[in-house]
Amino acid sequence: MAIRNIVQEGDPILRGKSRPVEEITPRILTLLDDMRETLAHADGVGLAAPQVGVRRRIVIVVNENDQMIELINPQIIKQSGHQRDLEGCLSVPGRWGYTNRPMHVTVQAMDREGKTFTVSGSGLTARAFCHEIDHLDGILFIDHAEECDIEV
Ligand code: ZN
Repeated sequence: MAIRNIVQEGDPILRGKSRPVEEITPRILTLLDDMRETLAHADGVGLAAPQVGVRRRIVIVVNENDQMIELINPQIIKQSGHQRDLEGCLSVPGRWGYTNRPMHVTVQAMDREGKTFTVSGSGLTARAFCHEIDHLDGILFIDHAEECDIEV
């Protein structure tokens, strides 16, 4: 495992659309392991593959029990409610802004064994699912945050 560099805002890699994973290869497994280590090292709640320079549809989200959930080709299949809270991003250090997100989100994805599963999250976890999946389509929270650049 290795800690990878986190790509910073301004790098075009963050703005492209990521490609789906068609097959779980040793390379994908290494990427997942490296993303786990990178996320733990950065002490974040989520990380998307383009943030480590790889345009593949893979994200990792830390849930409220501090477990890392690996999501390959994730899709939001259900959402409800509303929350508005401060949000930041490991690729946009030092900037925070209020975003509107659903309160509850259900995601369908593939695990590292290639099996499809669904996972639900509320509050911060729901926010993290939305934020990380946005990264796969080149969207950053600053694109739709209100009152950005709040100091915390
Ligand atoms: Zn982010």
